[in-house]
Amino acid sequence: MDSSRSFGNILMVGEVLVHTDIITTCFCCDIGKCGGRCCEEGDAGAPVTLDEIAYIEDQLDAIWPGLNAQAQSVIDRQGVAYTDPEGELVTSIVGSGDCCFRGPKGCLLKERPVSCHLYPIREKKLGPLVGLNYHRWAICKDGVALGEKLKLPLYKFLREPLIRRFGEAWYAELEETAEAYLSSGY
Ligand code: SF4
Repeated sequence: MDSSRSFGNILMVGEVLVHTDIITTCFCCDIGKCGGRCCEEGDAGAPVTLDEIAYIEDQLDAIWPGLNAQAQSVIDRQGVAYTDPEGELVTSIVGSGDCCFRGPKGCLLKERPVSCHLYPIREKKLGPLVGLNYHRWAICKDGVALGEKLKLPLYKFLREPLIRRFGEAWYAELEETAEAYLSSGY
């Protein structure tokens, strides 16, 4: 059943409020150019759930030798996650934003937290609902340029993580809603 509705620049897909930026913005990470700087910069770690913290803790012995000394020291002191100033549980970082779990060739975790997988979509709890926004960040300019070249909307680029987070049926409804929105000339 199609349960989508729209309120200005917000589309309601099931119990999820989707900002239209996610439909209208083209995006495709270009890691060869940006170097994955989203894992190195910023003022906090990546949001994680309690289950994801337990999963990271289970993997810690295996990945420990690959962590740099500063990351090991942060984790020894505060654990794999901490509560940020907004009260959200986030992965531990070194210094101003370098993820503790970033190795020389990328993420050391076998399965990244869903918030990392979904980036640059950011999720926000809104009471019983969930809101999804596109997080614009200058360091992603190469991702925007490649997305525009490929004419690839953000919601299509992030199909796999959106399905991981909300399921196949929800994604099918998002696609239907997005196509109707785009064909309306909005
Ligand atoms: S989210 Fe931005 S910084 Fe991170 S890999 Fe994609 S384009 Fe690069």
